[in-house]
Amino acid sequence: MNGLQLEFITPPPISKRTLELGVKYSPEFVCMPMKINLGNFIEALEMGADTIVMGGGWGPCRFGYYAQIERDILQELGYDFQMIVLEASDSKTKSLFKQLQSLGQNVSLRQALQSIKFAWDKMTAVEQVEKGLEYYLPRTNKPDEAERIYEQGLKEIIAAVNGRQSMQIARQIVQKMQKLESNSQEPLVIGLVGEVYTVLEPAANYEITKVLGRLGAEVRRTIYMTDWINDHLLGGHVKASTRRQVLKCAQPYLNYWVGGHGQETIGTTVAMARQGCDGIIQIGPLTCMPEIVAQTILPLVSKKEGIPCMTLWFDELTGTAGVQTRLEAFIDMVSRRKYTAGKVEEA
Ligand code: SF4
Repeated sequence: MNGLQLEFITPPPISKRTLELGVKYSPEFVCMPMKINLGNFIEALEMGADTIVMGGGWGPCRFGYYAQIERDILQELGYDFQMIVLEASDSKTKSLFKQLQSLGQNVSLRQALQSIKFAWDKMTAVEQVEKGLEYYLPRTNKPDEAERIYEQGLKEIIAAVNGRQSMQIARQIVQKMQKLESNSQEPLVIGLVGEVYTVLEPAANYEITKVLGRLGAEVRRTIYMTDWINDHLLGGHVKASTRRQVLKCAQPYLNYWVGGHGQETIGTTVAMARQGCDGIIQIGPLTCMPEIVAQTILPLVSKKEGIPCMTLWFDELTGTAGVQTRLEAFIDMVSRRKYTAGKVEEA
């Protein structure tokens, strides 16, 4: 936005208030990402935003209606703003760039492309730091320090003024994590699959990566932001994509698109089981239709591929203690299973 010479307002990080606002004004049975989004928008409008840029969508799930419903709700609440909806155009990159033109009127095409590249580099840097935490948190005796380094890294990347600097920061942060005292334990490897927003947004998944890391499990996520952008907006041209292989793995179990990432959830569970993961946790917002479809198929995948799977649904009534207890029980079960299979020495 800076590079496009647009003044922007970043809403505050997602908090209890964000969710409360969203819950108060959303239809009761809508999925949690929309409630959080609505809360984000209200907080941004309160801070003076006059334009909202929102992703669009289509297909069997509810995402395609989000932008329109949110716009109507916010207008009824009396906010004065315009909403620009960017329709995610699976592989039709040209049409996406046309939609982006309305945001880039203050700059030349070259400047616009530079801004996009900078945003991409920052996202990649953030993901490297996230991957660093996912890898080193279960391997260190100093989990507080690992999380502190991670938070510091995010702040430094936000402040970075160019792509090269953000990548350099990411490398330094990962090196710092690497130097933390090791706990000399072989962590369990848990695949995290499910609805994309819940997987990507720590506030929506009760910081599941950190909880699992502290329980001695390395999280292998199926999706990062750049993967989604690459697969759905840029035709898979910017970085290597595993989507085709994942959909192939899903074929014997679910051979058609059910909206959202339902098919990917099945495909990635199969792929991760074959790569030697110790367990799979599927996460999603309560009532998420594509993930409900995937959940009904997971027991068969679990049996045939020989991997324990658990599903966790989140909504505004979910409690931190409940999530912690279920994760502890799952990790305990996976760890005993691995031990009895003779794969690790008993601690
Ligand atoms: S994928 Fe699930 S959570 Fe996301 S919009 Fe669709 S139904 Fe809602």
